Amino acid sequence: MNAVDSVLVAGASAAGLSTVEALRRKGYQGRITVLDAAAGPPYDRPPLSKQVLSGAWQPERAHLRTPAALDALDARFLFGDAATGLDVVERTIRTASGRLLSAQAVVLATGLRPRTLPGQEPLPGVHLLRTLDQARELRRELAAARRIVVVGNGVLGSEIAATCAGLGLDTTLVGIQAAPMAEQFGPRIAGLLACLHTRNGVRLVNGGVGGVLTHRQGRVSGVRLRSGQLLPADLVVVAIGCVPATDWLAASGLRLDDGVVCDSGCRAAPGIYAAGDVARFHHGGLGTHLRLENRTNATAQAGVVAANILGADLPYAPVPYFWTDQFGVRIQLFGTPAADAEVTIAEGGADGSPDDRFVARFEAAGRLTAVLGWNMPKQARLHSRSLAAPAPRPSATAHPASTRP
Ligand SMILES: Cc1cc2nc3c(=O)[nH]c(=O)nc-3n(C[C@H](O)[C@H](O)[C@H](O)COP(=O)(O)OP(=O)(O)OC[C@H]3O[C@@H](n4cnc5c(N)ncnc54)[C@H](O)[C@@H]3O)c2cc1C
Repeated sequence: MNAVDSVLVAGASAAGLSTVEALRRKGYQGRITVLDAAAGPPYDRPPLSKQVLSGAWQPERAHLRTPAALDALDARFLFGDAATGLDVVERTIRTASGRLLSAQAVVLATGLRPRTLPGQEPLPGVHLLRTLDQARELRRELAAARRIVVVGNGVLGSEIAATCAGLGLDTTLVGIQAAPMAEQFGPRIAGLLACLHTRNGVRLVNGGVGGVLTHRQGRVSGVRLRSGQLLPADLVVVAIGCVPATDWLAASGLRLDDGVVCDSGCRAAPGIYAAGDVARFHHGGLGTHLRLENRTNATAQAGVVAANILGADLPYAPVPYFWTDQFGVRIQLFGTPAADAEVTIAEGGADGSPDDRFVARFEAAGRLTAVLGWNMPKQARLHSRSLAAPAPRPSATAHPASTRP
């Protein structure tokens, strides 16, 4: 017996599709409509910077489901039509093609859009990587490129640089973090990642980018750092983070603050939920709002949203988790390492050698805050068990000040 007889999902990628699948798994038999700006079918993003970019996979292999599996969900998929507005009271979405779609429950799962370099117009040879089409195009251009500069040394930039160097390309990774992924991992582990990159031929440059240089033929020819240093390039990939895709919600009256602000049950307003990269939810255990940009979160949060649509009142309070693959090393991070955390190697060896395998534990104020696995997946998962998220406090429907994780 369902209190809700229709669900409308904006965004048909990891979070949106997982919501639909979780609803059906839980026995929901009502109407489901799923809308996506992209022409479809839905695909997974983690392989884009790895297997698809390297050419190990044909792009189609990144599709999340077969057409038959999508059909079996008995949902109405509307691909290639963007949501352009939301009426929160009527729970109605207006679309680019002029549709007006209403339902008793609406799920916002529109993810992120990548940042571009400030003031930089689109230019041949300058790429972003968020979509399958962008991965295809970048892969095509890599085939003819010699010198690559990847701008942004966070997780995505580091992965792209690793893939490019793995293809034998002359690769420079430039960014404002002191070492690749220093913000995520802290100085010690980021130092090991820097070793991994340099050992595999990536040139690491620390600095902010002032602008892109243009060749006389109207194609990119390099990158100028704020310091004045020039980095020649015939292909540039910009990976300087993303912003939540919430422009279309600007007039909705929902609270938007680096994402759709939700309560601990992922509700942004009565009957309106958010899931995945776009959702800034209240984490009851940590007592703060978080927005997580990772694949596991998209599916796990969708499960809680589906349950709550069907009448449960579950809080979403996960231990944050993500993985990255670079030069054949799988790095997994469970929890959130505090900036001042003390790092100890709990298993294995971490001396910067090619066959390093280890588990690191991050402790701050005498408390374990994160566990990192470096090519030690099973052991890392075992250690992560001592990281159980603090028990959620009673449901928080107020929205305190937003804090980035
Ligand atoms: C290249 C790459 C590599 C990654 N690698 C990893 C990894 O190794 N490990 C990891 O944990 N995470 C990784 N991630 C992150 C992970 O892929 C995301 O966390 C996950 O895709 C989030 O899913 P989502 O459904 O919330 O958002 P998205 O995947 O961004 O999907 C949002 C969907 O909404 C649609 N949309 C946007 N605006 C509208 C609109 N107005 N109307 C209708 N539809 C709209 C979009 O077309 C899209 O299909 C990677 C991401 C990228 C880009």
